[in-house]
Amino acid sequence: MVTIGVLGMQGAIREHVRMLETLGAQTVVVRSVEDLQAIDGLVLPGGESTAMRRLLDRYGLLEPLREMETLPMFGTCAGMILLANEVEGYDAHLKKIPMTVKRNAFGRQVDSFEVDLPVKGIEEPVEAVFIRAPQVERVEPEVDVLAEVEEAIVAVRYKQYLACSFHPELTDDLSLHRYFIEMVNANQTQHV
Ligand code: GLN
Repeated sequence: MVTIGVLGMQGAIREHVRMLETLGAQTVVVRSVEDLQAIDGLVLPGGESTAMRRLLDRYGLLEPLREMETLPMFGTCAGMILLANEVEGYDAHLKKIPMTVKRNAFGRQVDSFEVDLPVKGIEEPVEAVFIRAPQVERVEPEVDVLAEVEEAIVAVRYKQYLACSFHPELTDDLSLHRYFIEMVNANQTQHV
């Protein structure tokens, strides 16, 4: 059984824990460098990326996370912003995925919305809830684009990293978490 950490700085932490445990994973809420020792993968929840960044600095987690080279990570919404190599108008955070994201990119009029979203590699459309969501503005060619909403990129995969601009953890749709656990399993086979 895999053990998945959920970054416990701020945001939708419990919701991710619930989904991962429903799928049979063990979970650890990560708040210190020691917590990183025991995990096979890490979820970065949605919330507010600027607040999360301040907490990552305060808890001394930014550099250790930047240096981790084989740990699979799954960022949702603000978590996607944390994974991007570039954030328009802001300093980048963990710099794991060669892409540029734009925060709050869907505009004030459409602060939040929900769609059934086709996602490459997942059979049924995913229930996707967008809340002040980012968009991916540019990706390097090696990044795999998994989903788009009206030509805006909203889900990507690159190496052992998965990111989406919506919140799968606020629905009952387990498909993206299942997809991530499969990535974690594959990564373990690769690194034994
Ligand atoms: N707007 C938030 C940010 O820029 C992300 C919103 C979310 O995670 N729901 O960090």
